Amino acid sequence: EASPSPKKQISNVTVCSRFRPLSSKERKDHGGRVCVCRIDDETFVFKDEKEEESTFSFDKVFYEDSLQADVYEFLALPIVRDAVNGVNGTIITYGQTGAGKTYSMEGPNVLESDDMKKGLLPRVVDGLFEHIASAGDSIKYKIKLSMVEIYMEKVRDLFDLSKDNLVIKQSKDHEMLVSGVTEIHLADTVEALQNLHAGIQNRAVGETQMNLASSRSHCAYIFTVQPYSTRDRRKTGKLVLVDLAGSEKVEKTGAEGKLLDEAKTINKSLSALGNVINALTCSSSKAIHIPYRDSKLTRLLQDALGGNSRTALICCCSPSTSNSSETFSTLRFGIRAK
Ligand code: ADP
Ligand code: MG
Repeated sequence: EASPSPKKQISNVTVCSRFRPLSSKERKDHGGRVCVCRIDDETFVFKDEKEEESTFSFDKVFYEDSLQADVYEFLALPIVRDAVNGVNGTIITYGQTGAGKTYSMEGPNVLESDDMKKGLLPRVVDGLFEHIASAGDSIKYKIKLSMVEIYMEKVRDLFDLSKDNLVIKQSKDHEMLVSGVTEIHLADTVEALQNLHAGIQNRAVGETQMNLASSRSHCAYIFTVQPYSTRDRRKTGKLVLVDLAGSEKVEKTGAEGKLLDEAKTINKSLSALGNVINALTCSSSKAIHIPYRDSKLTRLLQDALGGNSRTALICCCSPSTSNSSETFSTLRFGIRAK
């Protein structure tokens, strides 16, 4: 099936990189050597183990002193605003395990109230409810939440672990649906946070049962913002946040069996994601093929990635020289997506 070609609109895909602070282990065991040298808010010099330098530029670079609030305001707020107006959006965290994906997404945990630590999810929730409140009484909105985990190309419902192999379908109006997934109606921010927390807890439970680590699966938080009004018919907006599986190259470590299968599956879906984003940002007005069907992840995101939807990619990195080879490949993934 050929997908319609997107019009090139640079502003539709925002690619940022984020460096967390050095961990205490990196400070101790590796002498605290750092691979990143700040030039400005968009550009830095990257140094590998051999001190070889390359310059990288992104739409925005968040250094170790960046605030959670800055990250939200720069890349998520515009997407939240648009979702309320019926424009779909996706916010993705990419990077090796330990690079700060979940911290950026949730904060220390999703119920964190300290503004210095609070992650994107609780801020997105605040933003959605603020925006629908400011629409006044003329339009009422229904906000719904689904949470799914993708592991080994299987889609699992995080609100109902018995649904462990859900099917992704496309509706007649090209909407992507996870057939039979639990959708929770969120009345307010408190309910939203409680349900997010419950879904995250459930994920951990399921993982313990299956003896696997969260870093080996993708987690998608799917919000739908559905306006209902007697006067006009406005579009439903969908906002998907994705905390990706770790991008580290497991194959190189001589993994075998299940671990190698996992690694191959993760690699395949991450490169499918890279290919899709790359195809979307490719400067061609001709009909190009967008390879959404190459993975469950890209299939799920098909209607929230591309077209007139908005996408933000956060490339999460360790600042330590000891991780520079993974960091380099994370940065290259981001550059390719621009
Ligand atoms: P990932 O989800 O990519 O595996 P985490 O988000 O779990 O990585 O981060 C690994 C560790 O680093 C956690 O202990 C987390 O609290 C810490 N961390 C990550 N990003 C930051 C940050 N921006 N500021 C402070 N601590 C951070
Ligand atoms: Mg994580």
